[in-house]
Amino acid sequence: MKQTRTLISPEKRLIEVQFQTHLSRQAAERACALAENLNLDPEHDKRTGEQLCRTCYYMRRHVLAGQAITDTVCRFCDEEMQFNSTYTDALCLPCAKKYRLCKHCVADIEFRVRKKM
Ligand SMILES: [Zn+2]
Ligand SMILES: [Zn+2]
Repeated sequence: MKQTRTLISPEKRLIEVQFQTHLSRQAAERACALAENLNLDPEHDKRTGEQLCRTCYYMRRHVLAGQAITDTVCRFCDEEMQFNSTYTDALCLPCAKKYRLCKHCVADIEFRVRKKM
């Protein structure tokens, strides 16, 4: 495959470098902030209150999901659930709470290694 691209003329190079530096630095800062949140779990109580693991809680805002009313079922008890987007949870809240799991991805809510349910 051949990629087509527009050339940056010499007089526009400085503004392009400045603009991309800004964007790239912002992306790096966001990644560092996310890594710090994943590591330190500063919103632990709010996170566990929402029944989400660290990854699903702190990375939620980085997920692109379709805006559509989405119907699905809990993967443990088959209870019907409805969501405002295509970013659906795997478990209903009662099942997630009962087993202390992330309602979105079914991971252990504190990343403990499970030997039984
Ligand atoms: Zn359930
Ligand atoms: Zn999760």
